[in-house]
Amino acid sequence: MPSYTSVHLKERPTDAIIAGKTFESKQQSLPSASSLKDGEVLFQTLYLSLDPAMRGWLNPTRSYIPPVKIGAVMRGSGIGLIVASKSKKFPVGTYASGMCGWSEYAVLPEKEVELLDLPHGAVPTDALGCLGMTGLTAYFGITEVGQVKAGDFVVVSGAAGATGSVVGQIAKLKGATVLGLAGEDSKVAWLKEELGFDEALNYKDPQFKDKFRAATKGLIDVYFDNVGGEILDMALARAKPFARFVMCGAISEYNNKKAQGPSNYLMIISMRIRMQGFIVFDYADKYAAARKELAQWLLEGKLKRKETIIKGGITNAESALVGLFEGKNSGKTLVEVAKPEDA
Ligand code: NDP
Repeated sequence: MPSYTSVHLKERPTDAIIAGKTFESKQQSLPSASSLKDGEVLFQTLYLSLDPAMRGWLNPTRSYIPPVKIGAVMRGSGIGLIVASKSKKFPVGTYASGMCGWSEYAVLPEKEVELLDLPHGAVPTDALGCLGMTGLTAYFGITEVGQVKAGDFVVVSGAAGATGSVVGQIAKLKGATVLGLAGEDSKVAWLKEELGFDEALNYKDPQFKDKFRAATKGLIDVYFDNVGGEILDMALARAKPFARFVMCGAISEYNNKKAQGPSNYLMIISMRIRMQGFIVFDYADKYAAARKELAQWLLEGKLKRKETIIKGGITNAESALVGLFEGKNSGKTLVEVAKPEDA
């Protein structure tokens, strides 16, 4: 009987994910087409999205989504091919996206599958990146939460990642001046030379604090936070009165048993800062319009993207996730689970 590999949560990490301890891979029997129920499809995963939020899904705490259960296939979204179907909407041979988990194959109800409807100029993996969750997060963070307008000075942390790189480009398209923060000189160069950020700084540079102070002397209108920690405190210290802080993520805190909040929080009061957290799902009813605008920018060359594709299959998802916390990626991180030509 044909089998496939899936990766399951074995043990909840108390801090960082430990390779070989947190997850385990298992062999499963491939379901037959006749075992599918009405409305179900068998989804073969081609590319899996890797997201820092996955670390949060391992914690047994109240959040916007329930924690992954011990023993369950690790949660994740991907793009893939429908290889067996009892759905009229998704016949065999359809390319789609869905919550396939860390698995080579998944049986999914049709309501959890979306047709891969690629606009001109897009590649299939854009459905997980600049036209998918991270692109939409950047879009709504800038337009709805940050309400960025021409003339604003926007600072974005995690700027060379999947979300941050799109944030800075959208802010530029809105007429803002943009400072990006990233952890490598090569990332800083990419932000300035290719993505058109006005300024970018390496937060690991020993002179970073002085450089940040100098680069923000005009004070910040909008801070888009992907990392939390000390950089958030530094941004609070440089906020303009009535600044907007877009609280998107805090990757520096995800591995900590107890996340540290900002110690500079009195600035929120004295500068009357509006600090708003958001989850991209809040804007689901506006996805279609946002994707249309993102796709147009992509087609016109106004939105550029990069991908870090981890080869070698689903069992490399664990080390790829750890790599996000080490800054090994630029742009969107994906695991190549199977090549489309092999599917
Ligand atoms: P990225 O592609 O940005 O990858 C993570 C990056 O974070 C790394 O490349 C690394 O880059 C940086 N990083 C890692 N550790 C630290 C640290 N300790 N301090 C500063 N930077 C660090 O991931 P995403 O674009 O997928 O996600 C970015 C953020 O957005 C995350 O916090 C995520 O949870 C959040 N998010 C929130 C959503 C929402 O709905 N609110 C939806 C999607 C994402 P470097 O080399 O610069 O260190």
